[in-house]
Amino acid sequence: MERKLAGGGKRSTAVSGFRGNKQGLPSKPCAHCGREMTWRKAWAKTWSEVKFCSERCRREAKAAR
Ligand SMILES: [Zn+2]
Repeated sequence: MERKLAGGGKRSTAVSGFRGNKQGLPSKPCAHCGREMTWRKAWAKTWSEVKFCSERCRREAKAAR
């Protein structure tokens, strides 16, 4: 008995825009702790101005003279 391979029964591989490729994101070291921080969506508009990985680092950097 031959069985035909019918396409369309199941969904084909769903291709979404996001592939989870972290390497495509820019990153730079925190100016305070030096820890590498990876681009976040929240920084999309201010990435060039972002110097610290967190609010805490920003405060500590300010506090330390
Ligand atoms: Zn930091």
